[in-house]
Amino acid sequence: MVRVIRKSTAALGLVLGAMALAVPAQADELRDAVGEDMPGLMELYKDLHANPELSFQEFETAKKLAARARDLGFEVTEGVGQTGVVAVMRNGDGPTVMLRADMDGLPVTEQTGLPYASKAKGVPASGIESGLMHACGHDTHMAAWIGAAQLLAERKDEWQGTLVMILQPAEELGLGALAMLEDGLFTRFPKPDYVLGFHDAAGAPAGAIGYAKGYALANVDSVDITVKGVGGHGAYPHTTKDPIVVASSIVMRLQTLVSREKNPLDPAVVTVGSFLAGAKHNIIPDEAKLQLTVRSYGAESRAALLEGIERIAKAEAMAAGMPEDRMPVVSVQDPYLPSTYNTPEFTEQVMAGLSERFGERVFETPPVMGGEDFGQFYLADPENIESLIFWVGGVPQDQWAKSEAGELELPSLHSPFWAPDAEAVISTATEAMTAATLDLLPRKGGGLARWRTHRPERPPGANAGA
Ligand code: ZN
Ligand code: ZN
Repeated sequence: MVRVIRKSTAALGLVLGAMALAVPAQADELRDAVGEDMPGLMELYKDLHANPELSFQEFETAKKLAARARDLGFEVTEGVGQTGVVAVMRNGDGPTVMLRADMDGLPVTEQTGLPYASKAKGVPASGIESGLMHACGHDTHMAAWIGAAQLLAERKDEWQGTLVMILQPAEELGLGALAMLEDGLFTRFPKPDYVLGFHDAAGAPAGAIGYAKGYALANVDSVDITVKGVGGHGAYPHTTKDPIVVASSIVMRLQTLVSREKNPLDPAVVTVGSFLAGAKHNIIPDEAKLQLTVRSYGAESRAALLEGIERIAKAEAMAAGMPEDRMPVVSVQDPYLPSTYNTPEFTEQVMAGLSERFGERVFETPPVMGGEDFGQFYLADPENIESLIFWVGGVPQDQWAKSEAGELELPSLHSPFWAPDAEAVISTATEAMTAATLDLLPRKGGGLARWRTHRPERPPGANAGA
């Protein structure tokens, strides 16, 4: 679902272009171990890529990965939130770290031409059969998830605490995280102190690590407006109340919510993505339907937008003299997708560790207006959970260079042409997730965690994610 990262700065492009993901000269045990695991992880990736499954239908994917986690010594439970998987490794006293990957593919017919391109087909909610593709890169997420699971299981004598690794279904519907929580993710299994995840990025060069502090992704509301009218003959408008004209006024007036009512420094989006009405030239219909996507970060901002939409719809109908019983009906889809909040101090701490390891490959990026349901885990207990999702760039270096030179339009996530440099994404993410986890957990034998010895004070209202 997420659409990630603006293009990074030209400076970053230069840095990354120049170093071309060069590995620092000094020996790094963890990086070497990732390198040794990469052939196996790429084999797994290609298999996952060739066999995508739709949201809440990730049966084979879940089964395959659950078996691997079991082999690594995790206690594995399948079928959590329909097709979700929870793998737990209890390793003595200490905090609980949760690592999340999402599993679903999309109803997109792949056109990458890769030798392991998907030929799978499936029937999404639309009812229309479609090719299926991991066009959002969730296959890279799962391969790195297994990569981190392997490395952390092998290093059990280096950390203590509890590791909860989850495979989440249906991120593309924005429903999988909630489904797992409602199925007892935090009650039947150890509740995490720290939640980590990553998403591949189609707007950053392969191997770059981007992060936003605070809000990272937006509240996403889907709003339907049914504009009622009084239908009749197109030649006799005075005998009707034309819902197309009213709906048109609503569309135009809605633009002022962001441009005139909102603080310009608090971003928001109101997009009317669908406007359906009428059947024939000379008939004024009795109904028009609008579909909106509404994006914001904070709870107040969201509430103000939704209130404004309701007000404008009603007011435009009244201005047209619509009878009392023909007022527009505004409905907001429930559940909505809440914004994703990266707890700031935690984000800084984790990223300081990753910056030491990855140097200039790590950069801060502004939040995006895309949505993700990763934020649900944090919102389940914002007082006690620290949370971070970061981006791992996937654009192959040669394509990145061409795009920086203005010679190439890059495909976005969800594009049938999105073919990330999977090797770079998986190796970077595996190393980053493993290193961050090792930094968060105390050393075996009582040493302190590298980063956390206390829980910081958070300013009131700082976590108003929903
Ligand atoms: Zn997606
Ligand atoms: Zn995604």
